[in-house]
Amino acid sequence: MTQEINSFEIVKNLIDTSVKKLNLSKSVCEILSEPQRVLTVTIPVQMDDGSVKVFTGYRSQHNNALGPYKGGIRFHHDVNLDEVKALSTWMTLKCAVANIPYGGGKGGVIVNPKTLSRGELERLSRGYIRAIAPVIGADLDIPAPDVGTNGQVMSWMMDEFARIRGYNEFGVITGKPVIVGGSLGRVEATSRGCVFVIREAARVTGLKLKGATVVVQGFGNVGSIAARLLQQEDGCRVLAVSDSTGGIYNPNGLDIAAVEEHKARTGSVKGFPGSKEISNEELLTLECDILVPAALENQITGQNAGKIKAKIVAEGANGPTTPEADRILAERKILVLPDVLANSGGVTVSYFEWVQNQYGYYWSEEEVNNRLERKMVEAFNNVYSLYSKRKDVDMRGAAYMVAIERISEGMRVRGWLGNQMYADIKREAKPA
Ligand code: GLU
Repeated sequence: MTQEINSFEIVKNLIDTSVKKLNLSKSVCEILSEPQRVLTVTIPVQMDDGSVKVFTGYRSQHNNALGPYKGGIRFHHDVNLDEVKALSTWMTLKCAVANIPYGGGKGGVIVNPKTLSRGELERLSRGYIRAIAPVIGADLDIPAPDVGTNGQVMSWMMDEFARIRGYNEFGVITGKPVIVGGSLGRVEATSRGCVFVIREAARVTGLKLKGATVVVQGFGNVGSIAARLLQQEDGCRVLAVSDSTGGIYNPNGLDIAAVEEHKARTGSVKGFPGSKEISNEELLTLECDILVPAALENQITGQNAGKIKAKIVAEGANGPTTPEADRILAERKILVLPDVLANSGGVTVSYFEWVQNQYGYYWSEEEVNNRLERKMVEAFNNVYSLYSKRKDVDMRGAAYMVAIERISEGMRVRGWLGNQMYADIKREAKPA
């Protein structure tokens, strides 16, 4: 029997542990244990056959102590409220780890977008934005792409919001196409950020990236580009990749650009010439140096963590590793680069996009990538130095501590924690 793993319970427990380790007031934990606001909406969509189908969507605004709520919108048939709440909590933590001036939010619609026509997808995207319009805005809550959505969907959403407001507010949504206020480098940003963090991890562990072997689970926006960058820029050998239809393996390495073309043509990675089909379980447990889970939550579990042979696990996805798996991987000295660090490149370039929108002045791709690199290297080193100093946390624990310390300080100075925190908090401000 497969046990249901609830990501929201997982993230709340991790926050609780970190708050205790940081010796912070339990109010910090209580505040971070529930989103500040959750909206459930129903979206009637006219289907191509003339019928009306009603979809359910959510927007969870977890915390805005450090800035507007920020986070993607997921279109997936497994979306549920607890998942959206967990994803919004991760966004709060991720933005704090990345040290960008945002809180966390997330949205989702229960739908398999692949079953919709282009017109239906557009009407659903516009309908969702109409439904959540009262609670979003460039200084309030800023959506972006996530699983099942992309630049085109963001563009429709931004346009719908502009119609409601009566003027363009480009900064309300990030991940837009470049022609309508998007940023160069945003499409690759999550993957590029992940690669910057992998490079740092390779440096501190003494792993040579040239010729290193890589396995990637998930060949969507994050996984496919991470695989390509690791192959083309770092000389890694990508042994296996997978998507929702299955996995492919070639011990001599796959030509990722060619796999991307194959997938664009056929709709899946399966059947790529010269590759052998492998199951998801086989893929995760392949002998390799770097494993990049870049699909969905709860993929590395107590069941398979003991069989994982990678030296580094870089979480391109949100929440791919369960706490039980974390314990096993830590015991086995496998270095996990946690989601809130490893995939924070996406929201970091979303922040750059929003800054460019506010200024109406746009940067070159090189400038975006250089700034991203600086941010990722700094975030990695903050987390890694805490991890190296403390014997009682893994990289995820260290990342949570870095994040929660910042969020808690923001909440403290805003007065959300009450006056007793002036005595409680470790880093008490010195009186002038
Ligand atoms: N959906 C992405 C994430 O989970 C990006 C969010 C954003 O750019 O706001 O980090």
